[in-house]
Amino acid sequence: MNTRLEAGKTFLAENGLNLWAFLDCATLPEPIQRQFKASNIPLEKYNRLVLLGHGGPRFWQALAEYGHITPNPVDYFSTTITRRFITDYLVSPPIYWLYPSQLIIPLQQLGELAHWAHPSPLGVGISPQYGVWFAYRTAFLAIADLPVGSSETAAPSPCHTCLDKPCQTACPAGAVDEPHQFGLQDCARYRLQPDSSCGDRCLARLACPVAAEHKYGLPQVQYHYGRSLITLQEFYGAGE
Ligand code: SF4
Ligand code: SF4
Repeated sequence: MNTRLEAGKTFLAENGLNLWAFLDCATLPEPIQRQFKASNIPLEKYNRLVLLGHGGPRFWQALAEYGHITPNPVDYFSTTITRRFITDYLVSPPIYWLYPSQLIIPLQQLGELAHWAHPSPLGVGISPQYGVWFAYRTAFLAIADLPVGSSETAAPSPCHTCLDKPCQTACPAGAVDEPHQFGLQDCARYRLQPDSSCGDRCLARLACPVAAEHKYGLPQVQYHYGRSLITLQEFYGAGE
C-alpha cells in the first residue's frame, strides 16, 4: 500500500474532499477525449486525470473552520487543499490544472465514469451514496504513479426505484419533467422573478428523499444558489 497516498486521501477527506477518482488518460472514452481536444487540453502528455469532490456537509464545516477569506471561498479553499495534496502527498508531479478554471471540461461525464453519479431529472447528477448532495470541486492532469480507481463503486441510480419522484411535483416551474430534458429556461425564468421561492434554493432538490443524512445545511444551500442566481442575473439581465 502507498502509505503517503493513503495519508493524502485522509487529508482530503478531513477537509471535506471525500470523493476522489484517478482516471487513466489513455483509456478515457472517445467522446470525452474529443471534448478535451476541442478545449486544446494536452491530455496525451499526462497519464492520470485526478477528480476531487465533496459528498455531504463535511466540506462546508471544514470551510467554516478555515474561514471565508476570499470573495470565492469555496473555490479558494478547494484549490488550496488540492494544491497541498499535490505538493505534500503526490510530491509535486507535473500537472495541468483543469478545474476550476476557464476551461470547459465534461465534469458530469467524468463523474459518471468514476461511479460518482448518474444523470437525474434535476439536470444535476445523483450519487448512489450522497444523493444530490455532492459536487465536483477540483480536477487536474498529472504525470504520476497513481493507481487507477475511485472512492465510489458502481451502483444503480436511485432514480430507478424512486416511484413518486417528488422532485417533479416540488418544482413550481415544471422544469423537472423526466421524459424530457431538464427545463433550464423554465427554471431560470422562475428563479429570476422578484418573488421567486427558488431565489436561494431549489425546492425540487430539497424534496429528493435520497441520502437525507447527507443533505446540506440551509446556509450551504443558500450560498450555492445565491451565487448561481447572480450568474443568472448577469446572463439574462436582472430585469427579466
Ligand atoms: S426525487 Fe427521485 S427521481 Fe427525483 S432526483 Fe431524487 S431520486 Fe431521482
Ligand atoms: S430551482 Fe426552482 S424552478 Fe429551478 S428546478 Fe429547482 S425547484 Fe424548479
